[in-house]
Amino acid sequence: MSLHIVDLPPELLFQILRHLPGPDIGRVCQTCRKLREIGSVDSLWQIKCRIEYKYAVEGGLENSSYYKIYSKVLHKYGKSVGLWRRDRKVYGGLVWIRYDKEGIVGSELLAPLSPNVKESMRRFDLFNISLTSEDEVKVTCTAEVNGHPCSVKVKPKKGTCKYTCLDTSNHLYGDKKIDLKNDSSLIEVLNIWLDNERGSDGDNDMYHFTYYGRGMDFLKNIHTYKLKPLLIQPPVQDKDVPLQPGLFKGTYSAHGIEIMNAEYSQNFNTLTLTKITGDPNVPATKVSVKVDLLRPMVLTANQQESIDNLDGVDTAHIEPGTKLEPQPFVFPRNCSERSGFNPPKTCLFRYHAQGQIAGHGFRSPTWSPGHFVVFDEDTFGMIWLQLESFSLYSRVMEKYDFSKLAQEHELTR
Ligand SMILES: [Zn+2]
Repeated sequence: MSLHIVDLPPELLFQILRHLPGPDIGRVCQTCRKLREIGSVDSLWQIKCRIEYKYAVEGGLENSSYYKIYSKVLHKYGKSVGLWRRDRKVYGGLVWIRYDKEGIVGSELLAPLSPNVKESMRRFDLFNISLTSEDEVKVTCTAEVNGHPCSVKVKPKKGTCKYTCLDTSNHLYGDKKIDLKNDSSLIEVLNIWLDNERGSDGDNDMYHFTYYGRGMDFLKNIHTYKLKPLLIQPPVQDKDVPLQPGLFKGTYSAHGIEIMNAEYSQNFNTLTLTKITGDPNVPATKVSVKVDLLRPMVLTANQQESIDNLDGVDTAHIEPGTKLEPQPFVFPRNCSERSGFNPPKTCLFRYHAQGQIAGHGFRSPTWSPGHFVVFDEDTFGMIWLQLESFSLYSRVMEKYDFSKLAQEHELTR
C-alpha cells in the first residue's frame, strides 16, 4: 500500500509546509483542498514573516493577517528593509527603511546641526507602504500632509532599491508649499531652509543648500532616490579593538557634521572611516581617515602642547598587542576646534593616522598626517596636523535595526 503525502496527519503537513519558502507554499497548496486548508492557517504565515523577513509585531496584528502582509507587502517590499546609503553625487545620504506596525516606512536620516555632534540624528519621512481596507498595497510619498502616490522598487539580486515620487507639485517644506515653477516660492523655501539648517555656530551658506540634503532636491526637482546597501561591520568579539565599529557623526569645520562608517580591515591592522555623507571637497563614499593600528603612541602632556610639537614628535615603537594604559591628553594650543569640545585630561588610545584632503570637486586628493585619539567607546577625535584642526566624532546611538544587513555582510565576507 502506498501512502500519499496528504494522508499524513495535519500537524505533520504543517511542519513540512513551514520548512518550504513562502512562494512554494502557495504553489503546493493549489494541489488539493487539505493542503490548502493547512496552508491558510495564519500562524504558518506568522512563522514565514519572521523567518524570511524578520517581521514580527508585538501584541499581534490588528487590521490584517500575516498571510496578507506576507503576500502583498513583504514578498514585494520586504527586502527594502534595512539601512541604505543614498547614491547621490557629493552629498550621499543615509536612508532607513523599517517595519512600522502593519507596513513599511522609509526615512532619510540627517546628521544633527553643527556643531552639536552629540545630539540625536534628525529624521525626515519619505514614504510609507501599507494595506488599504480593500487589501490593496498602497505606496505613499509623505512629503505632503495628505500624501500622494510614489513607487518603491527593490532588486534584491542587484542589491539596489529605488524610490521615486510621482508628483512633487504638492511637496511641503515645513508647512510651506513649494511651487517649483515660481522663483519667489523657491527663494522663500531657501530662506526657511537657511534658518532651519544654520547651526548655532552660524555655519551655512548657499553651497550647503545646493549640495546638502533636500535643498538640492527642491531646486533641481529631484524625486528619485537611488539606494545602495549600507553594510555595517558586526561587533568585534574575539579581538582587542580600540572601539567597536559602526556609524559616527563627525565635525568637518565649515562643512558641518558628516556621517561616517567606521570599520576594521580584515587583518585588523587598519580602521577606516568612510563617508556616508560628504562635501564638495571629499565626497560621499570616499575614505576620510585611515588609522594605522600597528602604530599606537603614548605621549606626555608636554609633547602635545602645540601642533608643531606633535608634528615633529618622536614616538617610540610599541610592539603590537601591548596592553596600553590611559594616557594624558592635551588639546594643542594652535589647533582650531568648532564643536565646543571640552577636552578630557586623558584618552584611552592614540594612533598615527592619515586623513584625506582635496580641492573643490575632489581635485588632487592627498593623504595628510594626523593623530587619531580614542576618548571612550563612543567618542574619538582626529587632529589634522597640516590643517591645524580637530574633528570630533560621536557614535550614532539610535538603534537602526542593523541586524539584517549586518548578517548579510557576514555572509559575504
Ligand atoms: Zn512626493
